[in-house]
Amino acid sequence: MNIQAIKGVKDILPEEMPAWLHLEKTAREVFESYGFSEIRVPVFEYTELFARSIGASTDIVEKEMYTFADRDGKKLTLRPEGTAGVVRAFIEHKLYADSQHVKLYYLGPMFRHERPQKGRFRQFYQIGVEALGGSHPHVDIDILAMLHRLFARLGIGGVTLQVNSLGDAACRDGYRTALKEYLKPKLPTLCGDCQRRYETNPLRVLDCKVDAEKFVDSPVMLDHLCGPCKEHFETVEQGLKTLGIPFVVNPRLVRGLDYYTRTTFELVMGHLGAQNTVAAGGRYDGLVQELGGPAVPGIGFALGVERAISLLDTTNLKALRPHLYIAALGDEAVRKVMPVIHSLRTEGIRVETDYAGASLKSQMKKADKFGAAFTLIVGEQELASQTAVLRDMATKEQIAVALSGIVEELKNRLTRSR
Ligand code: ATP
Ligand code: MG
Repeated sequence: MNIQAIKGVKDILPEEMPAWLHLEKTAREVFESYGFSEIRVPVFEYTELFARSIGASTDIVEKEMYTFADRDGKKLTLRPEGTAGVVRAFIEHKLYADSQHVKLYYLGPMFRHERPQKGRFRQFYQIGVEALGGSHPHVDIDILAMLHRLFARLGIGGVTLQVNSLGDAACRDGYRTALKEYLKPKLPTLCGDCQRRYETNPLRVLDCKVDAEKFVDSPVMLDHLCGPCKEHFETVEQGLKTLGIPFVVNPRLVRGLDYYTRTTFELVMGHLGAQNTVAAGGRYDGLVQELGGPAVPGIGFALGVERAISLLDTTNLKALRPHLYIAALGDEAVRKVMPVIHSLRTEGIRVETDYAGASLKSQMKKADKFGAAFTLIVGEQELASQTAVLRDMATKEQIAVALSGIVEELKNRLTRSR
């Protein structure tokens, strides 16, 4: 049997690349305009990094990580998300020494052993940002504004920004107790995962993919916020209103990673069922310290590239077509046009040809298939006179040009048609 790709892992084919490149380019432009710089961290790390940061009793760490022992017996994991590695690098290279605000973005593949379905893969891509150093709610507003800006620039509508606060160490324990009291009588009716979460991580019950509707009357963190957390959240809400960024407060929004504090948010789409979150993030004020660094607060988000692309209008995002197809008829003609092709490509003109020198009819078909803007026909007669016939494929106009002048001629025509 032929060997196929691993289940839940996709090839991104050339025809899909224009959309991917457009998304990546737009994200870079938007992030860089907010002062973020790219960082590239490894796709694998010591397992302990993820267990410590994401939290031992989260879905990711409990059942989704690709973990293996390498040949030295070290326990390694393919990164399931980007924040842990970025924060590790931030600490390891003391990036906090240079600036009070360190703003980083990353993009690349993540790995989670989940049940593959539409919008859910085992290798998927994220583009994410981390702003380290600022605890002020205006940093949160900036991050949310940037996320909003990115989706506006991409022309993606129909997504809703949901925000919530998860409080901090001072107030979350009180809420956890209230939530456990509320959940206790419901315990026998909860799914197996939630029965476990009740003990280890009760907030995560609210994020149940099976029956979150059961908890519509649960107590919410917002009613349990301590003074400083409440003030922080109110400033964020006010700031978003001032900037005209639409959002809704979802008091039952929790996240699948333990490190979040205070502001948390998701960008939710109107479809895709359980895969309806296209971007998500929040503040993580204790994470850097938890991983052995100084007390530096942080906030970030990651967007799922496959899900974002499913929302993109790709009509105008097509693969580049050649500017010119050269129909060289016969071996001698092919030999003669090779240096011409070389000069054209040196000038950045996209050229295709048939290296076999096939018949005019079959080569004109190829020119059509490539969708070339122009075709240059070089046959025996043309070779003798050192000329060629240049055909504009749209207007069908044909002119004779000297082979030596073809680069200039095309450059002129291409600038005119732009
Ligand atoms: P979900 O609730 O859909 O499982 P999550 O809370 O696990 O998402 P995060 O860890 O917050 O997701 O990751 C941020 C984004 O990455 C998600 O909003 C989503 O767009 C994308 N994402 C997460 N897991 C996958 C996956 N297995 N396949 C494709 N995209 C994913
Ligand atoms: Mg998940």
